Amino acid sequence: MKKNKSFRESGRGDSVGFFKILGLTVVIIAVVFLISLTSPFEKRNETTFPSSTETTSAITPQTTTEAPPQTQSPATTEAPPPQTTPPATETEPPQTTTAPSLVPTNQEMKQLIQEKYLTKNSHARVGEPRTATKQIVIHYVANKNTTALQNWNYFETSGVYASSNFIVGLDGEIIQCMPIFEVSYHAGKKEVNYNSIGIEVCHPGSDGKFSEATYDSLIKLVSWLCKRYGISKKNVIRHYDVTGKLCPLYYAGEPGSEGYNHWEKFRDDIIFDR
Ligand SMILES: [Zn+2]
Repeated sequence: MKKNKSFRESGRGDSVGFFKILGLTVVIIAVVFLISLTSPFEKRNETTFPSSTETTSAITPQTTTEAPPQTQSPATTEAPPPQTTPPATETEPPQTTTAPSLVPTNQEMKQLIQEKYLTKNSHARVGEPRTATKQIVIHYVANKNTTALQNWNYFETSGVYASSNFIVGLDGEIIQCMPIFEVSYHAGKKEVNYNSIGIEVCHPGSDGKFSEATYDSLIKLVSWLCKRYGISKKNVIRHYDVTGKLCPLYYAGEPGSEGYNHWEKFRDDIIFDR
């Protein structure tokens, strides 16, 4: 409206003013059209921007999903400790159960053994050292219900070519007849006498079975000697194994016999802790 008044005030012709107004309106319409055309583009760009921000926001959650691996690693580090601790506790109990030894100590045997040496002579105690200590030979005294001291007196006074290093009595007492390294006459073979320790054992009856007290002391003595001299089970033998004499009677015999079973039971009772 203000522009039309300015044209009229200029004083030019109405036809010329009409064309000018027409031209201006065309220009204005063209400008308005151009503006209307550009505005949709801006709106489209605005709609595309949100979509682009949605895609970027969708990427960031993927980076946050990398956190779970951190929660898995602590779970795996917690598992090893319970696996390592149980084996350590399982290995300890067997060590404590196998530790104690049942073989009598030197001190225990010193209290059990009575040293009563035979007089040196030409038949029972010649006073010579053995050449080796490889075997232990078990005998029975073949005189029922006699004591260890009575059998010691027999060796001392009878004058027979017989002796032993030890005598185990009816009550479990033990008499040592000579120093442990000296040879005694018990096995009937010289080479065996010089390689072995001889033990005579008392018995209450004619069957030759050892009493419980005698048996227990004999097991202690043999177990102690086996450990002291490194003697194995197979080298604990009977007079029967050397010459075939039925000695010790209750424990004599070949494999399969009653006497042999008694002997094997005795050898199984010997304590070996090596
Ligand atoms: Zn014998």
